[in-house]
Amino acid sequence: MILRFLGLLLALSLGGAWGAFNGSVLQTLLGVLAAAVLWLVWDTVAAARLLRWLSRADAPAAPRLSGLWGELFERTRKRLRVLELKGQSSDGRLQDFLAALQASPNGVVLLDAQSRIEWSNLTAQHHLGLDPERDLGQYVRNLVRHPAFTAYMDSGDFGREIEIDGAGQSTSQPHKISLQVHPYGDQRQLMLTRDVTAVQLAEAMRRDFVANVSHEIRTPLTVLSGFVETMQSLSLDEEERQRFLALMSQQALRMQTLVNDLLTLSRLEGSPAPGIGEWTDVGEWMQQLVQDARGLSAAIASPVHDIALEMGPSLQVAGSRHELYSAVSNLVSNAVRYTPPGGRIRAGWRSGPDGVCEFFVNDTGPGIAPEHLPRLTERFYRVDRSRSRETGGTGLGLAIVKHVAQRHGGQVYIRSAVGQGSTFAISLPASRLRPMPAASVAS
Ligand code: ADP
Repeated sequence: MILRFLGLLLALSLGGAWGAFNGSVLQTLLGVLAAAVLWLVWDTVAAARLLRWLSRADAPAAPRLSGLWGELFERTRKRLRVLELKGQSSDGRLQDFLAALQASPNGVVLLDAQSRIEWSNLTAQHHLGLDPERDLGQYVRNLVRHPAFTAYMDSGDFGREIEIDGAGQSTSQPHKISLQVHPYGDQRQLMLTRDVTAVQLAEAMRRDFVANVSHEIRTPLTVLSGFVETMQSLSLDEEERQRFLALMSQQALRMQTLVNDLLTLSRLEGSPAPGIGEWTDVGEWMQQLVQDARGLSAAIASPVHDIALEMGPSLQVAGSRHELYSAVSNLVSNAVRYTPPGGRIRAGWRSGPDGVCEFFVNDTGPGIAPEHLPRLTERFYRVDRSRSRETGGTGLGLAIVKHVAQRHGGQVYIRSAVGQGSTFAISLPASRLRPMPAASVAS
């Protein structure tokens, strides 16, 4: 500042000296005035350069100037640089923050005070069918047109979450979204969305399961209590009494089978998959199984079924012998129960590609229409409910088979057509199979 003042004095003195050198007082004054004007022009030009530099967004390097203006240029440049760096760092942090929100498994939508969309992440766009560019700045109510959502936004009570149909929802493809608004800042709103389709499906399955179990147990219970009442109120002769007792025992057995199957299912679902420490001979238990099937056929069919074992390669399988036996046994007993007397049943195993082994049961029974095939392994799913009950079925057999196969790294295959019999198969991966050790084959 002092320099600037001295500069001005120097200019004025030089102007005055130049005037005095030329003679009169007037010329001295004119010299001082001229020096003052020159100084002012130089000063204004420097100020104009600074203003021009500041007003340009793509400001080039600060102009080189000396004196106060030079200092001002330099300090302004430094201050701008600091602000620029700060801006870059907040921008970087904002990008990191948005990237974190983008990675969130939940949908996130930021709304302004008028409930217009300021930003949304990919998950929210998928949940609500939003377009990231087109819908920016749009009122969210105009985009999410679900009555429950409109009522929720109208109520202003955001203490609970609501459930609405997600984008692309249809009867065959349910898509349920849970949504909650959280107010923050200056009347802004954070809207979080969550896909609850799987949770709802699981809940619906649980409800169906409980309803099915109750129904399955109530039927034999009603029959049983009917017989008990009859026996209490009527005097029956010995023959009738024996007949009633036999029917009661049949119903009790039915409940027992159901409870056993339920326990098996829950054990299969709740325990770790069998390891590969225990190896059992396939041929040995398959022979046993076919013998059991012949026994069952003799008990329920006349003429009996023609049941044969089709032996595959000598193999050992790793896993739970008990589970594998009961799974294939379920398939064989289904074949016996659903194939009319005298029908043909073939059970066995064979090697497939990649060392996979397939346990199969083939029958000449009624066959199954294609629409039922994908649902057969669901719990309690039956094609013919009365036929299943008549033969003591619980509707859980194939669900158990599927669980056992999956626990052993395998799958269940069903090939069937109405009038052409059925083939049920369980495939097991090569990792669970090995050829019979030589000593066992020889013996
Ligand atoms: P269930 O105890 O009723 O036999 P499963 O789960 O074992 O229950 O079988 C489900 C349904 O699949 C049965 O009710 C039956 O309708 C059908 N099914 C199973 N095996 C056969 C088969 N070999 N032939 C025809 N239908 C079958």
